[in-house]
Amino acid sequence: MPPVIAENLDIVISRIHAAATAAGRQPKDVHLLAVSKNCSSDTIRKAVVAGQQSFGENYVKEALEKMTELANTTYNENTQKRLIWHFIGPLQTNKTKLVATNFDWVHSVDRLKTAERLSLQRPAYLPPLQVCLQVNISGETSKSGTMPEDVQILAKTVASLPNIQLRGLMTIPKATTDPIAQRCEFATLRMLYERLNTYGLALDTLSMGMSHDLETAIAEGATIVRVGTAIFGARN
Ligand SMILES: *Cc1c(COP(=O)(O)O)cnc(C)c1O
Repeated sequence: MPPVIAENLDIVISRIHAAATAAGRQPKDVHLLAVSKNCSSDTIRKAVVAGQQSFGENYVKEALEKMTELANTTYNENTQKRLIWHFIGPLQTNKTKLVATNFDWVHSVDRLKTAERLSLQRPAYLPPLQVCLQVNISGETSKSGTMPEDVQILAKTVASLPNIQLRGLMTIPKATTDPIAQRCEFATLRMLYERLNTYGLALDTLSMGMSHDLETAIAEGATIVRVGTAIFGARN
């Protein structure tokens, strides 16, 4: 049933509009990243036809297969605008080169070593790789992300590397049904982001909010929401 993805996208875009408006923000300042992990190229193509340009992927090998299959798919046939790919999954050192050569954005940088490799490996013929630092706000030891107290020094160093451009911060909050606890994590990320900007970094991106919590994230300043399930359905 092809219309489902188009309808789901409409619903998500309406939710973004409503949440931005309720927060006194411009809807156009919140970018929708469609998280297409586990989705086929055909499914992604349906989202493209419905107007979606940016896609987020978690697994390098899976993403590269789909990029190849979708290489001739343009988002807008008049302007030949191509799809934009964001890497949002845990990034192993041995995969940095593939990410540096094939993606436009990386949201999950949490160590200097990873950033240095991406910087070295980003081909000169491409624009700088757009980078967010992933922050572990909840402090759960099982989770990736740099600790809040280490963000400042990491951000300053990463911002000085060539071939990559530090754009902002990303977080995945603790799984909780407590809306206040959830909102606190987003608020903390926003505070860290604002503090970095007062120290002279020109960051413009807060990557936070997913299918179930995008409204809360937008209320706290999210500029990119990463939405999978609400667009493509439950993953198996
Ligand atoms: C899978 C994933 C998402 C999307 O989550 P949904 O709940 O399906 O919207 C967002 N961000 C990251 C980092 C993910 O891995």
